[in-house]
Amino acid sequence: LRFEEINLSEEIKKAVSAMGFEEMSPIQSQAIPILLEGKDIIGQAQTGTGKTAAFGIPIVEMCDPEDKRLQALVLCPTRELSIQVAEEVGKLAKYKKGISVIPVYGGQPIDRQIKAFKKGVQIVIGTPGRVIDHIRRKTLKTDNIKMMVLDEADEMFDMGFRDDIELVMNRLAEERQTIFFSATMPQEIVKFASRYQKNPEIIKV
Ligand code: AMP
Repeated sequence: LRFEEINLSEEIKKAVSAMGFEEMSPIQSQAIPILLEGKDIIGQAQTGTGKTAAFGIPIVEMCDPEDKRLQALVLCPTRELSIQVAEEVGKLAKYKKGISVIPVYGGQPIDRQIKAFKKGVQIVIGTPGRVIDHIRRKTLKTDNIKMMVLDEADEMFDMGFRDDIELVMNRLAEERQTIFFSATMPQEIVKFASRYQKNPEIIKV
């Protein structure tokens, strides 16, 4: 499937084309239509498969630029991945005016992050520890999150972020989409996901 063939806004088509993407990767052609319908996904996929755009495109498409509250939260295991994912999602949002994408991770001055949030941020991509810190300080609010993504869930569990992730998940509004991506699918992740997802579509590439 080509990006032109699916129902995407002009702003996103322009961004995708500026990034040099024409054909959707297998994970993208499976995941994007399902996510645009508002359904949940649990997907087994490695890095390099195009999974970032698979969730990034639906996130940007769904985000309301008039609403300055947090609408999408992506949790990643590392600072490097948070920066990389935020860059790609930022590129996807380039032509959609009024959408702000911010990476958040530990070691960064917290005051500067809070300042950036005050101008309004719809998409946050970050590591669980620092995101929790902001939720506790009430500098990030979880009640308007419409899309929640766990990227590299197995890595995050291995790194001991399970409790932090659980804390975030338990604060989310009922009305939302929940997306899990993981390179491996241990029983622990499948079980955890089942507590937070509604009839997820299962994808494997
Ligand atoms: P990811 O698996 O999300 O880390 O993506 C791996 C790389 O493939 C990144 O550099 C993306 O920018 C690139 N990429 C993602 N989707 C496509 C596509 N449909 N066509 C060409 N390159 C892509």
